[in-house]
Amino acid sequence: MNVLVTGGTGYIGSLTSVQLLGAGLRPVLLDNLCNSKAAVLERIERVAGVRPRFIDGDIRDRALLDRVLREEGIDSVIHFAGLKAVGESVEMPLAYYDNNVNGTLVLLQALREARVRTLVFSSSATVYGDAQVMPLREDAPTSATNPYGRSKLMVEQILADLAASDPSWSLTALRYFNPVGAHPSGLMGEDPQGIPNNLMPYIAQVAVGRREKLRVFGNDYPTPDGTGVRDYIHVLDLADGHLAALRHGHGRPGLHVFNLGTGQGHSVLEMLQAFGRACGKTLAHEIASRRPGDVASCWADPAHAESTLGWRARRSLDEMCADTWRWQSMNPEGYPG
Ligand code: NAD
Ligand code: UDP
Repeated sequence: MNVLVTGGTGYIGSLTSVQLLGAGLRPVLLDNLCNSKAAVLERIERVAGVRPRFIDGDIRDRALLDRVLREEGIDSVIHFAGLKAVGESVEMPLAYYDNNVNGTLVLLQALREARVRTLVFSSSATVYGDAQVMPLREDAPTSATNPYGRSKLMVEQILADLAASDPSWSLTALRYFNPVGAHPSGLMGEDPQGIPNNLMPYIAQVAVGRREKLRVFGNDYPTPDGTGVRDYIHVLDLADGHLAALRHGHGRPGLHVFNLGTGQGHSVLEMLQAFGRACGKTLAHEIASRRPGDVASCWADPAHAESTLGWRARRSLDEMCADTWRWQSMNPEGYPG
């Protein structure tokens, strides 16, 4: 099976491509490299033993998509490509709607024309907005507090309308909780450009000496230790969830929505301690004020994915930290180039 992987050189796309290759599928990576480096291709080859086909291009380029779908004999798509920084989305809403919503529309139009009907989409737990009841089930109310989150909700709605219009489509939205970790080889991991927005890459950069200390955004939340609680999931478990979703989706009409999380919440201070165990250091931190827009707690009820896809997260918090530390210490500046 030939799987078009949009955003395939990014963090989750590259590791999912490794898992696809391991399962005997043929990923075709399409990425405009706006937030990733081509150097990841050589790492995929070292890890998986095969250099995947790569196309340097944009999902908004319809002529390119038409050609790739035809020439590569694409059977299904995993659609990761998009912009993902919440703060940036508030400053540049048009760029977010253009990449995330318009980009998806162009892709779907090309798929319709090429009669490719199976797509798995990267959604996010951010679509649950400021939910109060944990754990989150897929039928919890959705809302958005910023353009990034709204772009994910809009795409989910477009997918629902499309699935309702024509039963030949099999569409899946995977709502990721907090993907962290790296390939256990230490060769592949998350490589944020500039100052990391997310907790795990920030802690990893403190551990390797690139940043002085972690700023903990608030210790007065209604959580056991007052710091924010999230559902951190190993990126390889997440990648395996895509394989399960792809297999389940084939030939099954409709829009299928799944949480991909572990079902366990961990606080910022717990994450700092777990990472300290992995790297054998005490990591400096200070308490800072809350980050605007953050919720106190967010964790998944992953039961639907387990019962329907036969998938559940298997890797522990200590593995997430150990793998991140191996990647960060072997590649303190991320991927070359
Ligand atoms: P990433 O930035 O590492 O990967 C996204 C890739 O898409 C990048 O390589 C980028 O160059 C590419 N891209 C962006 N716009 C493009 C375009 N118009 N055409 C072609 N390529 C384009 O991000 P990631 O963490 O791997 O996330 C992948 C997907 O998962 C995104 O859609 C993101 O919103 C979603 N997601 C991520 C998280 C997370 O915490 N990492 C959580 C929930 C959802
Ligand atoms: N966080 C923090 N310091 C940082 C980055 C994040 O204290 O430098 C906290 C943040 O407030 C939240 C948790 O870590 O409680 C996870 O944040 P992240 O940005 O990684 O994910 P998201 O906000 O998308 O859940």
